[in-house]
Amino acid sequence: MKPSILQKYSDFLPLTDNTPIYTLGECDTPLVRSRVLEKEFGVGALYFKLEGCNPTGSFKDRGMVMAVAKAVEEGSKAIMCASTGNTSASAAAYGAYWGLMTCVIVPHGNIAMGKLAQAVAYGARVIAIDGNFDQALSLVRQMAEKHPIAMVNSVNPNRIEGQKTGAFEIVDALGDVPDYHFIPVGNAGNITSYWKGYVEYNNAGKASKRPVMMGFQAEGAAPIVKDHIVENPETIATAIRIGNPASWEKAIIARDESGGVIDSVTDNEILSAYNMLATKEGIFGEPASAASLAGLIKSVNGGLNLAGKTAVCIITGNGLKDPDIALKAAKPPIKLPSKLEAIEQSLDLG
Ligand SMILES: *Cc1c(COP(=O)(O)O)cnc(C)c1O
Repeated sequence: MKPSILQKYSDFLPLTDNTPIYTLGECDTPLVRSRVLEKEFGVGALYFKLEGCNPTGSFKDRGMVMAVAKAVEEGSKAIMCASTGNTSASAAAYGAYWGLMTCVIVPHGNIAMGKLAQAVAYGARVIAIDGNFDQALSLVRQMAEKHPIAMVNSVNPNRIEGQKTGAFEIVDALGDVPDYHFIPVGNAGNITSYWKGYVEYNNAGKASKRPVMMGFQAEGAAPIVKDHIVENPETIATAIRIGNPASWEKAIIARDESGGVIDSVTDNEILSAYNMLATKEGIFGEPASAASLAGLIKSVNGGLNLAGKTAVCIITGNGLKDPDIALKAAKPPIKLPSKLEAIEQSLDLG
């Protein structure tokens, strides 16, 4: 049986004797070596960490297993979050497991279909507001202050604690830290978590150094890059469509302490990387996930030399969550009569 991350990394997590240890199968996600793009972009060794292989299809499960364990330990009967989609899918699953009332607030019309399907399937109360993620988060903060409800957004420190285990797994798999860590940045909880994990492993003597953190926002939702709040963030990568990241300062600390950058990539760069990942590497991530690879490509094209270096791109979520974009971004199926010759002809075999 797969161990829970709560068990596997117990020494590094805020557990007490009363914290319930359980798992829905999160953790131990694959670290896949690139076959094509590594050579194409001159990387010493390029890996993709497939966080879409978590139980609800994104890295959010690592944080949620910890946050919900603490909510249960503290006697909460209800959990709540704001979400661009994946946090709600994850909260709904872990809430269902524990029989908690789960309420999620999402921006109406700007959440990928697969994610919405998950939240409703797990039985969460889904409220779609006429507003964006940042407004949803503000409402959830007010609700959690007023009512006995545990807030499970990444401002909840237990989320960061759980998510930092991604860094532990990478070091455990590679034997040391990678030189460069490429990651999409939305609310900035994940870059904060990975940096915390790398620093803790380094301090514990389990890694010889720390990686350079390379974070990427979408150009239309790049408040950290622009150094000001973006009132109306826009990008096809809905998971990073955030104009006022909750972990803004911590992301800047990760960037500066690691000697890294937080830069932006355009929607076209994201879609191009999304397409390459699927067609050249057999990896179907959701659009936001591809911001990590888009960022690597932009950096290399801008002069960053990764020869002899190890780089990891975090593929944060599963491509199935956003089927609309997949169908729009690729060639449509070919419609033919049910005849052998027609198929041969269309494949140039006739
Ligand atoms: C949440 C999410 C992100 C952004 O992570 P932050 O912690 O908000 O920076 C990126 N990709 C996917 C698939 C996500 O679900």
